[in-house]
Amino acid sequence: MNMTEFSKKHVDSCRFCWMCHHICPIGNATGQERNTARARALGISLVNRDAIALEEIIDNIYECATCSACAHTCVTGWDPVLFTREARLKAALAGALPEYINILIDNCLDTGNAYGKEDISPELKEIISKHGEKTDTLLWLGTDARYMAPAQGINAVRVMEKYAPSFTVLEDEPDCGTHLDFLIGTAEETKNIMQSAADIMNNYTKVVIFDPADAKTIKRAFGEMGIELSCEAVTFTSFLAPLAKGEKTLRDAAIQDAFQLSRELGETEPIREIVSKYAYIREFLLNGEETVWAGNILMSRYMGRVIKKVAEMRISNAESIGAKYIITESVGEYVSLKSVKQDKIGIIALENLILGEY
Ligand code: SF4
Ligand code: SF4
Repeated sequence: MNMTEFSKKHVDSCRFCWMCHHICPIGNATGQERNTARARALGISLVNRDAIALEEIIDNIYECATCSACAHTCVTGWDPVLFTREARLKAALAGALPEYINILIDNCLDTGNAYGKEDISPELKEIISKHGEKTDTLLWLGTDARYMAPAQGINAVRVMEKYAPSFTVLEDEPDCGTHLDFLIGTAEETKNIMQSAADIMNNYTKVVIFDPADAKTIKRAFGEMGIELSCEAVTFTSFLAPLAKGEKTLRDAAIQDAFQLSRELGETEPIREIVSKYAYIREFLLNGEETVWAGNILMSRYMGRVIKKVAEMRISNAESIGAKYIITESVGEYVSLKSVKQDKIGIIALENLILGEY
């Protein structure tokens, strides 16, 4: 594989190292060595040396959530996300992707979302239509909320109605590139989608980003891809932190930090500021920047059983600290945690907490 020398250095440093194997949410869910940063690096190093074909390890390349827990814990500064993402891009350019990934990519290009959905729910459409007029502030819902978790999209709009004087929501909001960035990294197609989204955002003074996965894309990946934003991009949580008001009633609520906010953007306090207005917080042992990813919707499309196990393990983390509730800030993690049938831990999305509906 024609990998950059920079990535090869990371691959060759990780391939015989064992130090972060305990931290990977996928590896811990499957219990398999193949789901460690080390094993992925070893496979890629063999491809780099023409010992095996990329197709032989391509499934494994897509078993990484790119949650960066391994890179965060690495004392020597190596980054498995870097080479995993580059391997995906090289596989796409070489036509070596598995069919189940090609379908998701085609969906992104054809319908603007990886799920291939052509329309949003009538209820979401109705509430969005009340905010169609152009204002200074744009609420960016994101494809997961729009197509796969419309109740969360509706509740995000309702929370904004409580605290923002006026704002706009787009009925035809496009993809901002989050899914394509995950699937094929920095390809030209990803950049084009990001640029189209940025062109729309730049018509506003401020963009409030509901989904943490999109926040990482807009606030970080856009810049890395050379896409300029002239508007102020703020996360839903940082926008609401100084505004939200409520009664502190809930006890033993653990915060499920979205890694995109806590690790990638260094934002850990806004969610605590909000949740502490409604609940007494009981922190996970691994919280904030050290958070453990609890699953998403996209990966559950092709490795559903593993993603459910990832969510089950996070719920069991909550039980072990005596928490009664998990409060989520990520749409994907909320859907993933809710998919587990259990009655010990209440799963509450932040927007539901603020609305008092749980
Ligand atoms: S990221 Fe660091 S700790 Fe993990 S395998 Fe690579 S070198 Fe080892
Ligand atoms: S990025 Fe996350 S899912 Fe991927 S190897 Fe590292 S810890 Fe595991």
